[in-house]
Amino acid sequence: MYSTRLDTYGCGCSHDCSYCYAKSLLDFRKLWNPQEPKVANLMAIENKLKKIEPGTILRLGGMTDCMQPCELKYRNTYKTIQLLNKYKIGYLIVTKSSLIAKDEYINILDRDLAYIQISITSTSDEISKKYEKSSVASQRIKAVEKLQKLGFDVQLRLSPFIEEWIDYQKLNEIKCDKIIVEFLRVNTFIKRWLDIDYSKFTLKQSNYYHLPLEEKIRMISNIKNFKEMSICEDVTEHYNFWKEHINYNKNDCCNLKK
Ligand code: SF4
Repeated sequence: MYSTRLDTYGCGCSHDCSYCYAKSLLDFRKLWNPQEPKVANLMAIENKLKKIEPGTILRLGGMTDCMQPCELKYRNTYKTIQLLNKYKIGYLIVTKSSLIAKDEYINILDRDLAYIQISITSTSDEISKKYEKSSVASQRIKAVEKLQKLGFDVQLRLSPFIEEWIDYQKLNEIKCDKIIVEFLRVNTFIKRWLDIDYSKFTLKQSNYYHLPLEEKIRMISNIKNFKEMSICEDVTEHYNFWKEHINYNKNDCCNLKK
């Protein structure tokens, strides 16, 4: 939906998640370096922003996480947020880090421009430590709850949704109004990197294997207590189903505040 993306870091993400789609696309071409992600040129970013219509919403971090640990050293995302504020351009920050909820970032987030989605894949710190090098699940959940309490447009992003890793009771206790769900889709690289049961991924579309719609419906029926739910989907028929029956805002599957 928000297709204009801006990466403050590139060619690698030190969160190094086992299911990373960007890694699966770039690693075999030797373009993925999680140890030393490239730092985007801030002047080039500003030149790009000058040409963008105020009121547009950009997604920060399309191929990498804009709040990955090198942000603490380079502050490229921090400075980019300041530029976005200056040019009155909206920003959707999708991250697996709790850094965005630190006071120094909260102090510069413009409530009229900032939309935040913090992703978890598991409700267990042990599982998140095994598959991701970002903040553990409990830290991310605390960050979501803090931003919710402060009145930001924040969503818990369950992405990718891997049922084996989720304790539904813990998930349903998270104090956040909005949840956005993205199911796992698998290709040969992700299958190699992730040790889960793939037997239910029987639907092939666009070079990925997906779960059938009935299985996805069963899984989301366990998610309760969120006031607004939305599904981020790239299987066309499934997208149409969610749009009609589940998505809180039929015209915006990202469900950003208007
Ligand atoms: S945080 Fe996102 S971009 Fe970074 S490794 Fe994980 S999935 Fe890939």
